[in-house]
Amino acid sequence: MRLQDKKALVTGASRGIGKAIADRFIAEGAEVWGVGTKEPDGLAERISEANGRLHWICADLGLLDQVETLVEDLIKEADGFDVLVNNAGITRDNLSFRMNFADFQKVLDVNLSAPFIIARTVGRAMIRQRRGSIINMASIVGIHGNGGQANYAAAKAGVIGFTKSLAQEAASRGVRVNAIAPGFIATDMTGAMTDEAREKTLSLIPLKRMGTPDDIAGTALFLASDESAYITGQVIPIDGGMFM
Ligand code: NAD
Repeated sequence: MRLQDKKALVTGASRGIGKAIADRFIAEGAEVWGVGTKEPDGLAERISEANGRLHWICADLGLLDQVETLVEDLIKEADGFDVLVNNAGITRDNLSFRMNFADFQKVLDVNLSAPFIIARTVGRAMIRQRRGSIINMASIVGIHGNGGQANYAAAKAGVIGFTKSLAQEAASRGVRVNAIAPGFIATDMTGAMTDEAREKTLSLIPLKRMGTPDDIAGTALFLASDESAYITGQVIPIDGGMFM
């Protein structure tokens, strides 16, 4: 029970990586406020299995002018969070030369601006509490770039930048801020890849498999718990050794 009685806000908790993180946190004793664009299938069962320690909020985090108020209301409802996982994210892939600006902007809104607004709103309250762990979901693409993903790479590079800046600003107040940079993880997001692209990517992974959402949840749990009490401002790649 590494998160006994801790309260966590997890965005994008309906499926994939965010769901695995929310489930793992609950299994380790946390109470979780999950956010997603819509109610996930089987929500009632998830809440009952969690003995009521899962709360669900439907919200579009791309509506930037509503995000701060939404988060402030959640902080009041929870009476403060110990952990924030900024996980919600989208892709709108295309070659830069063909990408329309709306798709560039949309990915920046959801993947960079919303996480920043959420992190600073939750971070402010954590600073008042003198404790907290913020975990931002970046990507190896934010470190290395990726053809066809200029919008996504720019957003994730931005996430890494604000993670390190916020970590410097908040460290002396007992708040830690880190990022996880997943590689190639089997979720709906990567489900749309062609077989050819999948084979090509797999051939670049020394551990010879795609990652699973649970591979990411284990590190999120570590960063959320006191086991990582001396770690802040870091970006942890979880990519099967793809970049070493
Ligand atoms: P996914 O598509 O399976 O799930 C995305 C989640 O984000 C869903 O719960 C969805 O409801 C939520 N979401 C999307 N837009 C939202 C919005 N506007 N408002 C509120 N919620 C919204 O994706 P995933 O693969 O689980 O990815 C989770 C995170 O991990 C993302 O930030 C993604 O960029 C990152 N990531 C994923 C991979 C991968 O290979 N799957 C690799 C690197 C980074």
